[in-house]
Amino acid sequence: MQSSLPDPLGYISHADGTIALEPSATVFHYAQGLFEGLKAYRDANGKITMFRPDMNMKRMNASAERVALPTFDGDAVIELMKQLIRLDKHWIPDQEGYSLYIRPTMIGTEAALGIHPPNAALLYVICSPVGPYYRHGFKPVALYGTTEYTRASPGGIGAYKLSANYAPGVMVQKEAAKKGYIQNLWLYGPEHHVTEVGTMNAFIVFKQADGVLELVTPPLDGMILPGVTRDSVLALARDHASGKAPIEGMPEGKLVVTERPVTMKEVKKAAEEGRLVEFFGTGTAAVISPVDRIGYEGEDLHIPTGPDGMGVISRPIWKHLVGIQTGKIPHEWSVAV
Ligand code: PMP
Repeated sequence: MQSSLPDPLGYISHADGTIALEPSATVFHYAQGLFEGLKAYRDANGKITMFRPDMNMKRMNASAERVALPTFDGDAVIELMKQLIRLDKHWIPDQEGYSLYIRPTMIGTEAALGIHPPNAALLYVICSPVGPYYRHGFKPVALYGTTEYTRASPGGIGAYKLSANYAPGVMVQKEAAKKGYIQNLWLYGPEHHVTEVGTMNAFIVFKQADGVLELVTPPLDGMILPGVTRDSVLALARDHASGKAPIEGMPEGKLVVTERPVTMKEVKKAAEEGRLVEFFGTGTAAVISPVDRIGYEGEDLHIPTGPDGMGVISRPIWKHLVGIQTGKIPHEWSVAV
């Protein structure tokens, strides 16, 4: 197929920010597209930082490799993002809870029908100011436990941030909304394993028989997106549990932190026995999203939340993590722009 756009790039980038692609560009047909999401924050002194951008670059390269798009030097793209943020820093609102959302994207731009690694690709970065997710305190969400559809499967693409993972979730989310739930909870397999909360990683707090609290998240078995927030919550909770870096406000007593499979049978049993302490999602957008209700097989499981909507473990972890992200608590995860 003859392209009127310059070979070998397959695209023209215009001064107004739009791009022109051939209708045959591979991204449009074969979903050769992927993206990332991270935030830049401005602290009280005007200093701008990004949160763990190396993790996003690592995940973006893994996504690229999975769909035969080119991999790249993550450090070089971090440098480019820093330059972009410096140019656009006036877009970061100077108010508590606001930040600049950064969306690195990669698409296959080759104008060709036929499925093969594209010999042209475009990596670009767009930004948008974003406000606090929860303007008036935390609002716990109700989840619909989806058993009719699966988000990911073994050996599939669920562990990658590929565009192809997102379109099929929109209708599932709409169905959950029609049933009166805010989000859907992706369950997998005959035992209904908990996998993800909409587009967030899932965390559960169980009270064990001996009173010990267990913070659990499903393992990175190829079906779970390796969330940056997930990794951060795990690291902070583990450092607290080991006594290396105690988190202010955590409940007294022993905490164990585990990555292991969890079935709905276990969640339901814990709820019935009053041992389901918390259920929450983690992600860049909301950081922590508490859950107070799960619709599962025709009935609702209820999960306790505090007067502010948060739970006993998620509240102090959220406070600590947001403190690091916004520069109130110095940490190596915060990268100066
Ligand atoms: N799972 C899915 C499917 C997601 O899209 C996201 C958002 N990137 C997450 C989990 C959370 O990842 P992160 O903490 O890196 O935002």
